[in-house]
Amino acid sequence: MDVSSFSYEALPMRVRFGPGAVASLGDEVRRLGLRRVLVLCSPEQEETGDRIAGSLGEHSAGVLPEARMHVPVEVARRARERAAELGADGCVAVGGGSAIGLGKAIALQYGLPVIAVPTTYAGSEMTAVWGVTEGGRKKTGRDRKVLPTSVLYDHELTLGLPVAMSVTSGLNAVAHAVEALYAPDASPIISLMAEEGIRALTSALPALVDNSTDLAARTQALYGAWLCGACLGATTMSLHHKLCHALGGSLDLPHAPTHAVVLPHALAYNQAAAPAAVEALRRALGVPDPARGIWDLAGALGAPRALKDLAMDEQDIDPITEQVVANPYANPAPVTREGVTLLLHAAWAGDAPSA
Ligand code: NAD
Repeated sequence: MDVSSFSYEALPMRVRFGPGAVASLGDEVRRLGLRRVLVLCSPEQEETGDRIAGSLGEHSAGVLPEARMHVPVEVARRARERAAELGADGCVAVGGGSAIGLGKAIALQYGLPVIAVPTTYAGSEMTAVWGVTEGGRKKTGRDRKVLPTSVLYDHELTLGLPVAMSVTSGLNAVAHAVEALYAPDASPIISLMAEEGIRALTSALPALVDNSTDLAARTQALYGAWLCGACLGATTMSLHHKLCHALGGSLDLPHAPTHAVVLPHALAYNQAAAPAAVEALRRALGVPDPARGIWDLAGALGAPRALKDLAMDEQDIDPITEQVVANPYANPAPVTREGVTLLLHAAWAGDAPSA
């Protein structure tokens, strides 16, 4: 990338990474001077939440296993009330973007610190971005208050993440790093992290498909997810994230699979306008055409490659295009109605990406 001029702002947080990192949660709670923390998780991960709360002893205020995708406003309200009733002075969010998003919703209103224990590769733990959904509309914003104070990455907690979710969540993370490479606020340090994160994740995912409990591959994948999440937290995202935001928000398409389908097409759209990003991606992926390489990889990993397979109706292409074109994010290639329509048709049908 061009290193002659840039600005970079580091986000303050503490990261502990390694097998058994979650065993240091008690130390982390005490280090932050917290007395009673509320453990947040999805209903499917209640057992993990209970185990973690149990390990905290008197420092646990209880478990709230109610996290849901896109943080519905009523869930956020209930969680805030519960935190206040229980006298919690902090939260531990264990799980994917949904659990961490719930922690952020509590932090936004009460300023309670969040310790994140991520168990997917989505990356929310590394960002100051919050989101709450009300009446079918997701409101998002950026606020330093919601940035987790500490993040404990423990690959042992990811061993049970099903293969299909590991693959789409991993590609979701790769998408953050891809867009960080051509972001309007890209910087040399973030580009290094992006390239390394993509290399780590794309080499770990095939090994996870072969054996989902391969510890070395789980470690690589989580390491890659950390780097890609940090890229998301430090830069402004472009067309790919705008498309996924519109598809998820308006049509309720599943978050990580939507990212997996759209990424090769959004990248193909931008490649000619982002030569330095393409060079970095060639090095990370070891292929001449990164967009085609990611599409091939998604196929080899068994990831979805067509929006129609995520139950999107073809007639929704036009309204989504309108939404994206009406209020586009900054993007290397101009965002045109014709270009976005072609992109969405290819992604909907499952065609190979083309510029
Ligand atoms: P998720 O958190 O909804 O998790 C999906 C499912 O996987 C849940 O049922 C969960 O219980 C289960 N799960 C998670 N980890 C598991 C494990 N190790 N083993 C078994 N099951 C496990 O999904 P996600 O993709 O991680 O997060 C998506 C949400 O996060 C979306 O709402 C998205 O908008 C948000 N997000 C926000 C940011 C941000 O910066 N604010 C970044 C990325 C994602």
